[in-house]
Parts: sequence; C-alpha cells; structure tokens
Amino acid sequence: MIDMSTSEAITRSNIHSHTTFSDGRNTAEEMVQAALSLGFHTIGFSEHGPADYDDVAMPAEQMGNYRAEILRLREKYAGRIHILLGLEHDWLSPAAPDGLDYAIESVHYVQKDGQLWSVDWTREKQEDAIRELYGGDPYALCRDYFRTVCASIESTNADILGHIELVMKFNEARDLFDDADPWYLGPALECAEFAAHSGRLIEVNTGAIAKGYRTQPYPGAAMLRRIAECSGRIIFTSDCHNSDYLNCAFGEVTQLARACGFKSAWEYRRSEAVEYKL
Ligand SMILES: [Zn+2]
Ligand SMILES: [Zn+2]
Repeated sequence: MIDMSTSEAITRSNIHSHTTFSDGRNTAEEMVQAALSLGFHTIGFSEHGPADYDDVAMPAEQMGNYRAEILRLREKYAGRIHILLGLEHDWLSPAAPDGLDYAIESVHYVQKDGQLWSVDWTREKQEDAIRELYGGDPYALCRDYFRTVCASIESTNADILGHIELVMKFNEARDLFDDADPWYLGPALECAEFAAHSGRLIEVNTGAIAKGYRTQPYPGAAMLRRIAECSGRIIFTSDCHNSDYLNCAFGEVTQLARACGFKSAWEYRRSEAVEYKL
C-alpha cells in the first residue's frame, strides 16, 4: 500500500550516514543538527562495521560507544527527529550485532586468487587490480564484482543493499571500460534483476556525486531501469561523510528514478520502511 499522505516526493530522510566514529567528517550530533536544519523527519547512522582488513572501518571496541552516542541523541532529540541506529556491513566482515534498527550490506572488497582488491579506494588500485589480477581485462574485473554483489545478496539478511555498481566510481569518463558494452551491461543487468528479486531495499546512493566522482548515483540509469522493470524497491541515500551533503542531489535522483520507471520509493519513518509515491 503506497502512502499517499505526503505530497512531497523528495525524501526528507537519510539512513546512510558516517561520522567521526569511522571516516565521516562530522560528529553524529552535528549530523543531527544538519538534518534538523533541512527539515528531515529521520536520520539513520550506518558506520562501517568492524572489519580488520579495512582501515576506515570502526574499531570493534568503539561499537559500544557508537551505540551509546546514537541512543543518547535519540533521547535528546525525541519529538523533533527520528534517529536510527544502523550499520554498514561489509559482506566479508563478521556478522552485524543484534539490536540495530537496520543494516546496509555493501561490497567494498572482492576476493580474487586469495587476494582482496578494494573496489572504491583509489583509481590506481583499481587499475592495478585490472592489470595484475585480471590480465588487463576490465570486463573480467567488472564481472567478478557483480558476481560478488550477487553472492553478498544471497548470503545477507540486511534490510538494504548498499551502492550496487560501486565499480563505476572511477569511471565517470568511461576511460577504464565502457559501461554500455554488453560485456559490462550483461552482468550489471543480471545483478540488477537479482537485487530486485531479493525483495530487499536497493539504495540509490548519491555519495560519489557529493565527492565529485560521479554525476549519476549508484546504481546508474541502466541498472535502475532494469530494477524498475523487475518491481524492485528503492531508497534514496547520500552515503553522507560530510553534513553539507546530507541531501545531496536528492531532487535530481528522484527525477532520474521517475524517468527510469519508478512510481514509488521507500523511506524510513521511525524504525520502519514506508512506501511513498514519487
Ligand atoms: Zn560503502
Ligand atoms: Zn557508506
């Protein structure tokens, strides 16, 4: 049932937010204040869950402090904004702890021949991986990335699928590979179908727009169209690492989603995801 009670099609919430507990610039309270100034009804925090292979992940010993701080803010700002406790869980890391409002499942690393390569750390690292692990074939790397995303979807019980198509981060100029090439599009669209059929919420993530890497969200238009055809469910997020960008490009990506065939999207109100009309 679509909630028709709101005429505002642009979400006033974001549940993918990072703070100084991991690699964000602002404290959680600064993020809450930014959300209030934007008139948000909900903000959710999703620190990088502990992962010993990832330098930006939150250390395991910080988990208690993180939880305590978000719950403190929830109490302090009760009645003004809903504050949710979540986690961004990398698919290779230990299971997320209990007691969260939601989890986002993300693929930041891919395993190949016993080695891990980082999907989003630097362009140089991606070029190294193409050359050294995939014999110079970028489409083989992309195929492996999408296969990994599908494996993560199959194994997760998280509520939300994070930034599928992250492999495009450094390819805005299409000089690493051509995302219109069937060797790319085939695995990408299969992944889009798989994600849609999983029934989980799929992020339309504007984080790379905020950071100046991309003009399109993850996933981009081609995958979004296929997700819409397969009746997949989307949620807009800014993967916010800086409170200035909490609602980055939400208007533009809402229009893009409409153009790709979506009639509705989902957002969190309190601790529950609710469908609304676009
Ligand atoms: Zn991520
Ligand atoms: Zn993130």
